[in-house]
Amino acid sequence: MTDGIRAGSQSRLVLATANQHKLIELKRILAAGHVDVDLCGLADFPGAPEVQETGSTFAENALLKARAIADFTALPAVADDSGLCVDALNGMPGVLSARWSGRHGDDAANLRLVLAQVSDVPEERRGAQFVCAAALVLPGGTEHVSEGVVRGMLVLEPRGQNGFGYDPIFLPENSTLTTGEMDPADKDKISHRGKALRALAPVIAALLG
Ligand code: IMP
Repeated sequence: MTDGIRAGSQSRLVLATANQHKLIELKRILAAGHVDVDLCGLADFPGAPEVQETGSTFAENALLKARAIADFTALPAVADDSGLCVDALNGMPGVLSARWSGRHGDDAANLRLVLAQVSDVPEERRGAQFVCAAALVLPGGTEHVSEGVVRGMLVLEPRGQNGFGYDPIFLPENSTLTTGEMDPADKDKISHRGKALRALAPVIAALLG
């Protein structure tokens, strides 16, 4: 292992995101799993490439991002990709979740479009799931992908101010609250991202801890 990868006695690991919430979430998950690494985000690497999510699966997109950041930083990198898969829409919006309405990141328009598309679908066929793939890529070429899924259904009336994206219309199985109504810590416990990252933690520990 090179000095660049180790900071003091700790291995360094980059999360391929500038999103502080994702960084804090992964730090919490690694700490809970007693994984001793020095985790940093892209804010520490000015000029890091903006990776286009051109893959046809969440795993491909997560790998594209983790590979690009491992290349750029010469450090082990973790990246995730996630979205909503609606049964009645044959698994769409899927990897197109962030740009379903045509404009990247327009959460309100994306939600309105999905709602319009399922408005005539009866409740028993309104099943859906959030899916997340989390990829770990080491500069030497070692790669690992974990996936997390949370099953549920769509409700036709948006509920709740928490979360983001499709949270106000997603009712997880065994819950009376949409993910938009849930306390963020409660959502973390059941979420697709939490599951994928928790599954990756022992792999990070084995390779870097
Ligand atoms: P990304 O993986 O952060 O690029 O997220 C892709 C898109 O999927 C987001 O823009 C949201 O539309 C949707 N999405 C992913 N995870 C969630 C979630 O936990 N709640 C609501 N929407 C989500």
